[in-house]
Order: sequence, then C-alpha cells, then structure tokens
Amino acid sequence: MDTITHYINGVTIDTQSGRHADVFNPALGEPVARVALGTAEEVDAAVRAAEKAFPSWSATPPLTRARVLFKYLQLCQQHTDEFAAMITREHGKTFADAQGEVARGIEMVEFAVGIPQMLKGEFTDQISRGIDAWSMRQALGVVAGITPFNFPVMVPMWMFPVALACGNTFVLKPSERDPSPSLLHARLLKEAGLPDGVFNVVQGDKVTVDALLDHPVVQAVSFVGSTPIAEYIYSRGCAAGKRVQALGGAKNHMVVMPDADMEMTVDALMGAAFGSAGERCMAISVVVAVGDAGDKIVDALAKRTAALKVRDGMAADAEMGPVVTSAAKQRIERLIGEGVEQGAKLVVDGRNHKVVGRENGFFIGGTLFDHVTPDMTIYKEEIFGPVLCMLRAPDVGSAVELINRNEYGNGVAIYTRDGGVAREFVRQIQVGMVGVNVPLPVPMAFNSFGGWKRSLFGDHHAYGPEGVRFYTRHKAVMQRWPNTASAGAEFAFPQMK
Ligand code: NAD
Repeated sequence: MDTITHYINGVTIDTQSGRHADVFNPALGEPVARVALGTAEEVDAAVRAAEKAFPSWSATPPLTRARVLFKYLQLCQQHTDEFAAMITREHGKTFADAQGEVARGIEMVEFAVGIPQMLKGEFTDQISRGIDAWSMRQALGVVAGITPFNFPVMVPMWMFPVALACGNTFVLKPSERDPSPSLLHARLLKEAGLPDGVFNVVQGDKVTVDALLDHPVVQAVSFVGSTPIAEYIYSRGCAAGKRVQALGGAKNHMVVMPDADMEMTVDALMGAAFGSAGERCMAISVVVAVGDAGDKIVDALAKRTAALKVRDGMAADAEMGPVVTSAAKQRIERLIGEGVEQGAKLVVDGRNHKVVGRENGFFIGGTLFDHVTPDMTIYKEEIFGPVLCMLRAPDVGSAVELINRNEYGNGVAIYTRDGGVAREFVRQIQVGMVGVNVPLPVPMAFNSFGGWKRSLFGDHHAYGPEGVRFYTRHKAVMQRWPNTASAGAEFAFPQMK
C-alpha cells in the first residue's frame, strides 16, 4: 500500500511519529493507502522551510510569480483526470462530479494569475508641499491552510494560488481522509518552477493542526471544515495572534414558492441535495415549501429519489457514490432513525442500501423526509449525507424567519417566477450566498465565497478580492525627498528589473 507522505522543502518525507492512518476507497470499503500523521517537529520543519523561502519569493516580481502559476495552470489542465480519479478513489464522489471539482479549482488559478494588478496601491501627489503619499499591500509571510475531506482538490485551491500570487509561502494540512491530491499539487507546482519551500504539505490530524495554530512564525490560517472545529481554529489561532478565516458547516434551505416552475425545481433539488451524496457545504438539505408547493413536488421528488443511480463513482452511469467513511454512514443512518422517532414522515428510506459487487462500500440511498419541523434533530444538525428534509411554511415571510433563525448561513435558494418576491427575499435573508432559481450559488473565482453566522468565523471570505485582502497587509507611506540630480537618460525600452 502507498504511503502518502509530507512534502517539505521540495522533498517528500514520511513521518517519524510511527503513526499512520488508513485511507479508504469508500466504494470498496477497503483501505487503499495509508497517510502519515505528522508531529509538531515536522510542522516546525515545514514552517521553517516556508520561512526561509519567504524573503526571496516575496521579493520576486508579481508577474514572475504569476508566470509560475500560469505554468502550473497548464499542468493542472493536463492532469485533470488524474486529479479527478484520485478524488473518486478516496472521497467516493462520481468521476464526472470530481472533474467538475477540478475545473472549479483551476478557475482559482486563472484568477490568481491576474492578482498582480490587484496588488497596486493608491497614490496621492503633494499631500503637503514636497510630500507624496501612497498605499501598498504586502504579503504576510508564512500562511497555513487546513482543509476538509469533501473537496480535496478545490478547497486547497481556494487558498494557496491566491496566497502564493500575493507573495506568501504556504503550508497545507489536507484532510487525512483523502490526502493524495495534495502531493500532486506539490509535484505540479515544482514542475512549474516554484522554488522549494514556497509550498509545503504536512499530513496529519489534530496534532499537526494544533502545531500550526500555535507556531509563532505562521502569520495566518485559512480553515474550511465543520463548525465546531472552525470555531476552535478561530479562537486558538486568534489567541496566538494570527489572522484567521475559518469557514464552517451549513444547513442550506431552498424556498419553493407555489408559482415556481416545478419541473425545474425538482431537477434542481435532485442535483443539489444528492450530488456528491450531499457532502457539499452548499448542498441543499432543506426544502421550505410555501403554500401548496410541497404537495406539487413531493411525488416527483419521491420517485426520483428512489430511482437514484447509486454506484461506485467510477461507473459511467453513477449519479451518486458512497459517503466518505463507515463512521459517516453510521452517523447518517442514526440521524435518519431519529427523524422517524421524532415524527417526520420518511417518504424514501436510503438505509441498508446495497450496491451489487460493492457490498462493503459505504453506500446510503437517497432519503426524503416530509413534514419535518424545526425542533427535530434532522433539521437542526448538519447531516452531510444524501438526506433531504421538507418543511412546510404558510408564506414567504415565515420561510424567511425560519431561515434567519437557523444558526448557519452559508447558502440559500429561492425558486419562484415572481421578481418582487425574489428581490425582497435577497434583501431580507441572513445568508452569505443566495441563489434565485439557482440551487448552488457558489461564487466564481473572481468573486468571494463565504457564509454568515456560524458558517464563517473571521472577517474575510475566501478567494477572490477578499482572499487577496486576507493574504496581504495594507501599508500607508508618506515620503519627502530633497531634490536629487538626474540619473541620466535611458534609451532602452523600460522593462521590469
Ligand atoms: P472537519 O472539521 O472534521 O475537518 C476539517 C479539517 O480539520 C481536517 O483537516 C481535519 O484533519 C481537521 N480536524 C478535525 N478535527 C480536528 C480537531 N479536533 N482539532 C483540530 N483539527 C481537526 O470537517 P470534514 O468532515 O473534513 O469536512 C466536512 C465539513 O466541512 C462539513 O461540516 C462541511 O459543511 C464543511 N465545509 C464547509 C465549507 C465552507 O465553505 N463553509 C466547504 C467545505 C466543507
């Protein structure tokens, strides 16, 4: 079995801790590799390598840095299917979905190569006699990224292309469930010409995370994962004086108005609830059906949920793969049981789902609940599996109130034909990313991504202009010069030096 190692200062290296964890193929239910679980000393080695690389990388002209990322972008495009196959193997999502993830990750690099123009400052001539003032943004130093299992390629790419383009050096701590893509990123960055030490990977669990949070050289931490851990990362990182952005979990609602296009709505719900087996932070896990909208869609939803093609993610016709671990499967099935006990109507039951030829895989069939109420555990907890809960609301006002009371505020959608209702919904809703007849409003790379309330701890959203602000510091300069003699004429066309 392969061992997935650290990558420190341009070299892959196994842990000295003696600790490793199995990495499973969830469709087979079997380990396919093992991953190093690093130590605080190994984190220190990675951080020191990044610290050593920082003066030269941050002094490298932004366009030269961008050119390295351009080359990396081309390499990612050439290796899309290799990335996607790794994702399906260790995460379980379908190959087509994994290809989509890689494509959205590549968009981050396309954004990052344009970052030089965002590092420009502002200039004011003659704020006083003989004095000019300007502002500039400078890199922070060594920054770290700690990422979740559900987007092992894309979520790290929300972070390091932006951080590197801004002149920082980086230490990535990927999820221990699907760590392989981190080393492919490292290999391609090196092939693209990134100097050793600028990008490092430390594999591991809480031990490595805590060592990053406490390390005095690490200036900033970007985290994406579940809410309890996000809150922990935010408090501990801030207490250690770092800049922290910690994106957490979600409970994303879709409001369906009685005038919505019901066919379009059901199509949208199927993909948004069951794509990636519901293991997306933007997955729609709750339908709030207004008026008689629930009665209009429940039969179609039930039929299609029961007919979902649940397969090994590499099967050409798979619509949904397994969930990530045996523990996740058990937890989701327990929550389905609690939904039944607490009185929700189980319309389609995905428990005990078997896939022929993959009997040990961590599969759950699509599950649909109707008449869920806000006090039930299946409404309150993030299930992070293929379980869709329908609640009924008398009008759009009570739907908005319900959503605004929820502790999460990541994504939300409304399906309606009424522009006035949609407009007011957008204005009133306390959620960071809103879709109008769009089920998964994941912002493009040149916008920024982030939820509200307990879906994000920190002041900056991820990637886009917010990412650039997160990974740079603002500096204001005032300058006065005595008159100096001219350096003489230059006849060559001016160029970067
Ligand atoms: P997780 O919180 O269990 O793990 C995330 C990272 O934190 C991993 O690298 C893990 O090794 C580390 N970690 C786990 N427990 C830790 C601990 N006790 N101390 C320190 N570090 C710890 O999340 P996950 O299960 O990998 O991912 C799923 C979660 O991520 C869901 O809640 C999902 O909503 C969320 N998510 C959010 C977004 C977003 O943008 N808001 C995006 C993707 C995923």
